Amino acid sequence: MVPVPYDQRDGFIWFNGTLVPWQDAKLHVLTHGLHYASAVFEGERAYDGEIFKLTEHSQRLHKSAQLLDFEIPYSVAELDKASREALRANNLTDAYIRPIAWRGSEQMGVAAQMTKINVTICAWDWGSYFDPAAREKGLRLTIAQYRRPDPRTAPTESKATGLYMICTIEKHRAERAGYADALMLDWRGQVAEATGANIFFAKDGVLHTPLPDCFLDGITRRTVIGLAKQRGLTVIERAILPEDMTEFSECFITGTAAEVTPVSEIGPYRFAVGDIARMLMKDYAALVHPAKAIAAAG
Ligand code: PMP
Repeated sequence: MVPVPYDQRDGFIWFNGTLVPWQDAKLHVLTHGLHYASAVFEGERAYDGEIFKLTEHSQRLHKSAQLLDFEIPYSVAELDKASREALRANNLTDAYIRPIAWRGSEQMGVAAQMTKINVTICAWDWGSYFDPAAREKGLRLTIAQYRRPDPRTAPTESKATGLYMICTIEKHRAERAGYADALMLDWRGQVAEATGANIFFAKDGVLHTPLPDCFLDGITRRTVIGLAKQRGLTVIERAILPEDMTEFSECFITGTAAEVTPVSEIGPYRFAVGDIARMLMKDYAALVHPAKAIAAAG
């Protein structure tokens, strides 16, 4: 079955303060955000009608925009309310929510001080980011050719659209070769992250994860560190070199879309889908589904 293109779906999109019919949420070809990547976005997930860590996402959208030298014309509280409106207007309880802010078409050229800042929020049903069967067995990752840039080269703490250019190239390269995703190293050659998710490793009951000094310190990453510590696990944030991967027994990636997903293979390195990844997948599912966790406990 051919999926319905995203611009031809039904429902409502929150567009600069009002809900508009899905197919009317259009913009002009002379949009600064399209030509010069002056756009920042978020990826949120709702479970049982609640958007997980919503305010953290709205705050990150503000921060991402500031790093690109523009300001979102809605407060964090207004963005929170708007994400909830987009979810409700589409009668969704379990969904992915995509806020995006971009510079409009009032000015063309690199300078863009006169452009209006636009914001839309869309919500749609988006199941597992990776093939559910592959999630059980662990994902197979290849090692990317492009590297996460030096923070002196790009605003790496921003969830800016332009930073995803190399991610799309690498995701395509990986899928063409039969892999689910690619592990990206950073500009120094250290392990960084996957194309849309952070990475963790386990060894002797201890978790190791790269220091997020040139890529997103994911909201899921921070949540999983908290869950691991609640379980009494030690979490070490440190520089990890590719050859260090020979020592690790388990590996998993984390992200709002990816949630907690085990990895079985990265280039020449192999990992088991083990107890730590399974436990954290379960703990994360219980945390994001409070209603189901309470029902199961009761
Ligand atoms: N890194 C990249 C490149 C991402 O796109 C994402 C997803 N937003 C993450 C990490 C994980 O971030 P989060 O857990 O906040 O979704």
